[in-house]
Amino acid sequence: MLRIECPCCGPRDHDEFRYGGDASVMRPSHDDPDPEAWYRYVYVRKNPPGPHSEFWQHMTGCRQWLVVERDTRNHSILSVGFART
Ligand SMILES: [Zn+2]
Repeated sequence: MLRIECPCCGPRDHDEFRYGGDASVMRPSHDDPDPEAWYRYVYVRKNPPGPHSEFWQHMTGCRQWLVVERDTRNHSILSVGFART
């Protein structure tokens, strides 16, 4: 089981959170007409071994969106921060 250290609520089990996807993917501008750019944004992921940035939302707590850096080889949490800038 993953334990995520929420900056607002402290350490919590991962089942209190909702996975929000890859945090390293950049959304194309809303007026980008290239269907290939939208295809890559929606469907194409790298799934690398090692550190990976992910969005998680603390659904049963503060409801904040977080960026969690997780090592995909052993599920260790390397860092947690707010997704807002
Ligand atoms: Zn929280």
